[in-house]
Amino acid sequence: MSEYNDAVVEGIHYRTGERIRLICKDGKISEIIVLSNTPDKCNERSHPFGEEKEELPLIGPGLVDLQINGFQGYDFNNRHLTPETVKSVTRLLRQQGVTSYYPTLITKSSEHIERALRTIAAACTEDLEVASMISGIHVEGPYISPKDGARGAHALKWVRKPDFEEFTQWQQAAEGRIKLITLSPEWENAEVFIRQCVAAGITISIGHTSASSSQIKAAVAAGASMSTHFGNGIQAELPRHPNVLWAQLAADELSCCLIADGFHLPKEVLKVALKVKGDQALLVSDAVALCGMPPGYYDTPVGGKVVLTPEGRLHLAESPELLAGSAQLLTRGIEHLTRSGICRLERAWDMASVIPSSMMGLSSARGIEVGAPADVLLASWDGDQFKVLRTYKEGKCSE
Ligand SMILES: [Zn+2]
Repeated sequence: MSEYNDAVVEGIHYRTGERIRLICKDGKISEIIVLSNTPDKCNERSHPFGEEKEELPLIGPGLVDLQINGFQGYDFNNRHLTPETVKSVTRLLRQQGVTSYYPTLITKSSEHIERALRTIAAACTEDLEVASMISGIHVEGPYISPKDGARGAHALKWVRKPDFEEFTQWQQAAEGRIKLITLSPEWENAEVFIRQCVAAGITISIGHTSASSSQIKAAVAAGASMSTHFGNGIQAELPRHPNVLWAQLAADELSCCLIADGFHLPKEVLKVALKVKGDQALLVSDAVALCGMPPGYYDTPVGGKVVLTPEGRLHLAESPELLAGSAQLLTRGIEHLTRSGICRLERAWDMASVIPSSMMGLSSARGIEVGAPADVLLASWDGDQFKVLRTYKEGKCSE
């Protein structure tokens, strides 16, 4: 970014309930002035901040999405992806409160993935604002399980075992921007591959897997540190135990990414994952291109004929019981967790911001703190809806 806008932001601190003023300089939070240290009705804890108070918005950290495939009709996995598309999506996401994200590429041919990586890298080179928001690229697949169910919607013909040479080529195309890989440890060479990637600074996340408990253990020992959309991308039926869910829940080293759109996981799974994983539980959107589009019937090149319901559930037209991806952003996850009483607003907000930042080693992990990047959100919460009012990326406002 060639210049930072110095900004002054006023509102209610999302954690403490104090009325604060943030002074942002040179892209960072330079000062936090507490205007009233009486937490405004904050102790009435049944409802995050008591009744709606004044008109002041909540101030909290900007949203960080580790897994997003597209938005508002744009798809990072489209073979005709252009740098302009990447820039458009980035701007649209910022309006939705996202201050950092990881465009996600799924299982395709080697050339297809390489081309997409080059395109995203080009968008970052051409536009520094885009570069500041794309903290890395998430390659989800193709080194995943070939089994039905576990594979999800990834095309079997491109699923293959991990290949470090291929990855190295991709990383060159991406100019070093691949930071996160989702794979299944069920491949015999997965352990070696994981060690090589971790040594290269890549975060390895276990997903789309039908691995055994011992394979999960070996992956963790090799440095895998995350579970991709826990509870989704697995076989529909599992032995009661051992199975891939218990193995990942029990592995303390694995943080846990959850799609909390209200459709992908039942509330009890979310509740258990939050309890077991504590501050290693985080939200991802896993949004697909139809996210942000009006409800209706769509014929898509990748997902086929699908329906987006007015409630925001995206399913196959022929089989309404089968989801065709997520059509919700992180804001919906925050809403769902809070509204369902699974956790309080500030925790849900952290799960969509500072926790993913922390997992990826981003400086935005510091949250609302002097010296932290001024990646800040103004939002409202009325007990039902979480609305983004304004987003500041490095102190620069987009409305
Ligand atoms: Zn997936």
